[in-house]
Amino acid sequence: MLQNTLFDPSALRDSVTGRVVTAEDPDYDEVRAGFNGMIDKHPLAIIRVADDANVAVGIRTAREFELPLAIRAGGHSAPGFGSCDGGIVIDCRDLQDVIIDDEAATIACGSGLTWGQFDAVTQQHGLAVTGGRISGTGVTGLTIGSGSGWLERAMGLTSDSLTGVRMVTAEGVVVDSDDDPDLIWALRGGGGNFGVITELRFQLRRLGPIVLGGQRFYPIERGREVLAAYRDVMMSAPKELCGGLAFITAPPAPFVPEEYRGKVVAATIVLWAGAPEDAAAGIAALDALGEPIVDLVRELEYTELQMLMDKGAPAGKRDYFKGGFMSEMTDAAVDDIVGLAETVTEPLTQIICAPLGAHTQYAAVDETHSAIGHRNEQWSFQVLSLWSDPKDDVDQKAWTKGAAEVMSSHSDMVSYPNFLSADEVADTETAYAPTVYRRLRMVKDRYDPNNVFRINNNIAPSEVAVV
Ligand SMILES: Cc1cc2nc3c(=O)[nH]c(=O)nc-3n(C[C@H](O)[C@H](O)[C@H](O)COP(=O)(O)OP(=O)(O)OC[C@H]3O[C@@H](n4cnc5c(N)ncnc54)[C@H](O)[C@@H]3O)c2cc1C
Repeated sequence: MLQNTLFDPSALRDSVTGRVVTAEDPDYDEVRAGFNGMIDKHPLAIIRVADDANVAVGIRTAREFELPLAIRAGGHSAPGFGSCDGGIVIDCRDLQDVIIDDEAATIACGSGLTWGQFDAVTQQHGLAVTGGRISGTGVTGLTIGSGSGWLERAMGLTSDSLTGVRMVTAEGVVVDSDDDPDLIWALRGGGGNFGVITELRFQLRRLGPIVLGGQRFYPIERGREVLAAYRDVMMSAPKELCGGLAFITAPPAPFVPEEYRGKVVAATIVLWAGAPEDAAAGIAALDALGEPIVDLVRELEYTELQMLMDKGAPAGKRDYFKGGFMSEMTDAAVDDIVGLAETVTEPLTQIICAPLGAHTQYAAVDETHSAIGHRNEQWSFQVLSLWSDPKDDVDQKAWTKGAAEVMSSHSDMVSYPNFLSADEVADTETAYAPTVYRRLRMVKDRYDPNNVFRINNNIAPSEVAVV
């Protein structure tokens, strides 16, 4: 085995067709940056892989020199899994190929797409899958860590619609999940534990390009009444009525009445995902929430709706998340959620309540299809704290943990793998049912017994301790 001090990036440059970025390159800082400004990792080399062969070289080199190996797609991992110190990053951003079969409503795409890029190409065909709520998030990381989004009531989690992948294993072998039902099952929620994905395939559904939807704001003073009414409407509304309710800070924009600018508001994100002719009647149930202070619900492009929250989540901010599920949103939970929203001090922090429900597509999937359980839950929620100043790190994390503490009386605080925070990653197991975790470990043993892919929500193989 070679010493990692002997690692020479120029040799790597000769072995791959993609670009190799190191600390000597002027754009090194730009290329290594991820979404979370708190993460500041310095890899020895970032390989902007151009194909499967480049990926295999990256894996082989990391193993040969005993270097840490990280995989990056959209760079949105809150704990910073998309990079590493003193190791190699396999950066998939340049894998951008797309093939759409309009008739079959399917897509095969490179693993480097963001949701903005994915939605732009699928919407040219009036096709969609549940996508991330922020358009810069990577399709790959979001999908294989579950994939929760505004469309989940109508279309299930993103990973539920993942039908296949091409992947390079720890041994540098290119495999296709069509040859292994265990592998595609594991990738529906088991994360980047099994290899480097270079292509993903999805079953899409018809939607758009124009949809009825948008945002409505309600004053925080009516927050309890609005959230309770939203709960009551969404638990019986058809699954085509999609979206969520987020407590956000109203921007200083002309469309917001002056007295509400910079104040926390209850914001519904409305999206009708059924037949367009049923849309107006379908969303009318939300009139029960009363008169909004801002009503931006209209016919708009689905791609625009998917970017509604982007301004509230700019890259480079510091972020820390907690999330969970509720089997029921009780009045006491409503009270506590609004109480927490009233204590938000950072303008970009959000508390999102996402309605699920027994009659939805989310609930129609079981653990034979997906590693993600929690299908009997009625709500998921995320406390997404974002702030700018490093001086606030301690306070903001403490506030977020405090919020989780409050919510723990309404939820067992297990979450989607995508929303595990940095201090929970050692407890990856808690995100899965025990039988599911055992099966995930069996797949891990088969594909990565040496835990080469360990910078992630790690599923430790049977024989190797997590390093
Ligand atoms: C602002 C923001 C908004 C978010 N919104 C949502 C949301 O609406 N719904 C939701 O479900 N989640 C959401 N998340 C969480 C997000 O889905 C996860 O952090 C996800 O891992 C990000 O994927 P990425 O590709 O952007 O990240 P990266 O940091 O690039 O990758 C994260 C991890 O994914 C794995 N991975 C990435 N690419 C590959 C590959 N090619 N092969 C194998 N493994 C790979 C690796 O383990 C990698 O470390 C959000 C996060 C942020 C910061």
